[in-house]
Amino acid sequence: MKVLKFGGTSVGTSDRLKALIDLVVNEEPKLVVLSAMAGTTDSMVDITESLYQNKKKDATNIIDKLQKKYNKTIDELYASEEWKKKAIKMIDSHFAYIRSFTIKVFTKLQEKAILAQGELISTALFHYLLNEQNIDSALIPALNFMRIDKDGEPDYFYITENLNRELEKVKGTELIITQGYICRNAYGEIDNLKRGGSDYTASIIGSIIQSEEVQIWTDINGFRNNDPRYIDNTVVIRELSFDEAAELAYFGAKILHPTSILPCKEKNIPVRLKNTLEPDDPGTLITGKYFEQGIKAIAVKDGITAIKIKSTRMLLAYGFLRRVFEIFEIYKTSIDMITTSEIAVSITIDDPTYLNNVEKELGKFGIVEIEKGQSIICIVGDFLAERKGYAMKILEALKEIPIRMISYGGSWYNISVLIGTQHKKQALQALHDSLFNQKQIN
Ligand code: ASP
Ligand code: MG
Repeated sequence: MKVLKFGGTSVGTSDRLKALIDLVVNEEPKLVVLSAMAGTTDSMVDITESLYQNKKKDATNIIDKLQKKYNKTIDELYASEEWKKKAIKMIDSHFAYIRSFTIKVFTKLQEKAILAQGELISTALFHYLLNEQNIDSALIPALNFMRIDKDGEPDYFYITENLNRELEKVKGTELIITQGYICRNAYGEIDNLKRGGSDYTASIIGSIIQSEEVQIWTDINGFRNNDPRYIDNTVVIRELSFDEAAELAYFGAKILHPTSILPCKEKNIPVRLKNTLEPDDPGTLITGKYFEQGIKAIAVKDGITAIKIKSTRMLLAYGFLRRVFEIFEIYKTSIDMITTSEIAVSITIDDPTYLNNVEKELGKFGIVEIEKGQSIICIVGDFLAERKGYAMKILEALKEIPIRMISYGGSWYNISVLIGTQHKKQALQALHDSLFNQKQIN
């Protein structure tokens, strides 16, 4: 059975929901994972933020606006009064539930419960639509099987047991729907797999049921070889390895949640990125194979802060880096890039929430310099077999650009360079011209 995940824009309007039917109704048995309608989770976040700040009026306004949007969608979505009524009743009950939190104390638990409503609503709307059109389908509630443990990791034992039980209940149905993103935690409370987590849901399910393929459907044809926001003439990469895709997803390419393909990688289940607007396009296929050596793609990640710690205490000392890293651990700040010299270490972070604390603590070791407004350019490919020449080609292409850090050899699938964001476009273009355009001419 294939697993197909459709993102927020693929279920974002009544028309898109109707169009989804053509994509999922055919002979192939499949499990369809849906995100919330585009914008809904963002609105839910706004609601919870207003409630945390005790701005109940603001929260109520957002709730009212969102409900109106759903009422309009329902009106457009169903042909019959009967199903319109049913859907309105369903929406009313979800919104009554959300409103109930505007008069209660506000907690993390309640926040998660509100965030879960988006996926509960989108799946119910789609299931109703299939029912209205007499298409046989079943909705299995993710909250009955998807679960994370105390560390926030998927509880595979629990999920396997409970997913199989849910699937057993609907045996014989070829079209099964469930919610992405939402789950329960170790205490059975409503939780989620973090923003963008529907991809992760699809991948976890795919790995458990040993799916022949997990498809992630969005609005683009797949990974492109450079960032189309800045570069013309980018092309879709038709095949990538799991390692290459993970690097690309992490460093910029927004198409896929970076950790989402890990479960599929572990079970060697192919992941295909597909476009709902061009369903016949084969998209990008991600597998355990390395289909071609060399450079495949360039991605960029902005909003990076570089932190340099210079300390003579580092000279010939051991344990220095551990103490440095410990500070980042205490402040739950993850590190993207590291370069070291004998007397200094440079680190990059993308989440500056605790930057002041980190800076203060690091100050105890030596001189700390902070540079904001940086971008990581990540060049992805398979450099393993032939390690010659790639670094040189990349640096040659960037010869006009001031480079702040270079990271090579961390994995054989990526070379990263840190530059000031003001040089980003020029750097992407220079790399594109030298690494890809030349290739096409040859
Ligand atoms: N609806 C959730 C979000 O917006 C999950 C997802 O779309 O993958 O983050
Ligand atoms: Mg997404």
